[in-house]
Amino acid sequence: MSKLTMHERLPFDEAAAPSLVSTGELPQPEQVQALVTEAYERYRGTADGTVADYIPALAEASPDLFGICVVGARGRYAEIGDVDVPFSIQSVSKPFVFALVCEAIGYEEARLRLGVNSTGFPFNSLMAVELNEDRTMNPLVNAGAIASSSLVPGDTAEDKWENIRRGLSRFAGRELSVNADVYASESATNLRNHGIARLLASYDRIYFDPEQITDVYTRQCSLDVTVHDLAVMGATLADGGMNPITGEQVLGHGVCRRVLAVMATAGLYELSGDWLYEVGMPGKSGVSGGIVTVSPGKGGLATFSPPLDVAGNSVRGQLVTKFLAERLGLNLFASVPVADPAASRA
Ligand code: GLN
Repeated sequence: MSKLTMHERLPFDEAAAPSLVSTGELPQPEQVQALVTEAYERYRGTADGTVADYIPALAEASPDLFGICVVGARGRYAEIGDVDVPFSIQSVSKPFVFALVCEAIGYEEARLRLGVNSTGFPFNSLMAVELNEDRTMNPLVNAGAIASSSLVPGDTAEDKWENIRRGLSRFAGRELSVNADVYASESATNLRNHGIARLLASYDRIYFDPEQITDVYTRQCSLDVTVHDLAVMGATLADGGMNPITGEQVLGHGVCRRVLAVMATAGLYELSGDWLYEVGMPGKSGVSGGIVTVSPGKGGLATFSPPLDVAGNSVRGQLVTKFLAERLGLNLFASVPVADPAASRA
């Protein structure tokens, strides 16, 4: 067993004795829409960052594309900008595939097979595999993500792929399909992920043929979504695993909170600490410019803007998320002193 696992199982039977859950509310819908609009106006002129070009098809995206969507846990939404423009989901697929793996093999087994700690390295780092005895450290960097895809049920690559596509579609509440150009472009150019998968195979930390599963992972990253879809997917994670639009219970007991935990540890890769420090919410970014953030019990926030910082995270997306985290009261670590301590102790 992994040396880094702090404890195999903390002794609390969540299924038999359901835990108390205490969350808050989003502001009123008109206020949410007004703040989403304000965030859009405030940051639409920001020109920082560079559109990803290591996958040639991504370099074609206009740096001006910009969309924001908030979907509340009750299914209400507020949005603005390029909310209907499809883009490939890229790494934002990773937490959702991890969720499918937890569903299939259980979240304890998923932790043992994949790891849930942060790597402190870029998303496609080989050093992270070499330097850590666990090899895969977290399902949200490429090594752990490709290993996650390998644990999705299915005897063949095609079966695994169909389970991933269908599973992610349930989070989005509509049938998702692959962007053929992005898939072809990444397949032809991104050899690095094949290297990562083979390295994992040499350590027995991948659970299917490395070549075939890297191809499945590439298809997974090429699924087209809109910023609206991402917000619905995030809202499903904010709503105890139930898609608030379709009403479908996508995740079973205890999975949702584990998915958010891995998002907090590595959702923005080596900058995840900075992200939590500033934003105070689990998030996940992708190199095509999407970011999804989740405030449990309240809702999902998604942004789309292709120019990225050096770690591969959308610049405008980070600015908007910070702004809305503050204005919508989403930061999980925030509290204010109770007004009358004597009264509250009574
Ligand atoms: N498909 C991309 C890759 O594997 C996803 C990376 C990302 O979005 N950070 O390189």
